[in-house]
Amino acid sequence: MAKTTVAWKTKVKDGKTLMICQNSNKELSKYPQWGPENGVCDEWSETGPDTTASTCWRCAARSVSGMNFYKN
Ligand SMILES: [Zn+2]
Repeated sequence: MAKTTVAWKTKVKDGKTLMICQNSNKELSKYPQWGPENGVCDEWSETGPDTTASTCWRCAARSVSGMNFYKN
């Protein structure tokens, strides 16, 4: 059972746990195609205790918009 666990950065703010968007590191992200066209995402989102990876609303919006930011 080889399981690779990525430890995304978290922080606690106002009693809520926030996690950095996984597109802060596109090499580790499951959805790098949703990330910003240039650079990486640095958006934080609220997560639950069992959350292992977070995709912020910006990247989630890209995933459903159908827009392709990679035009190559
Ligand atoms: Zn993001």
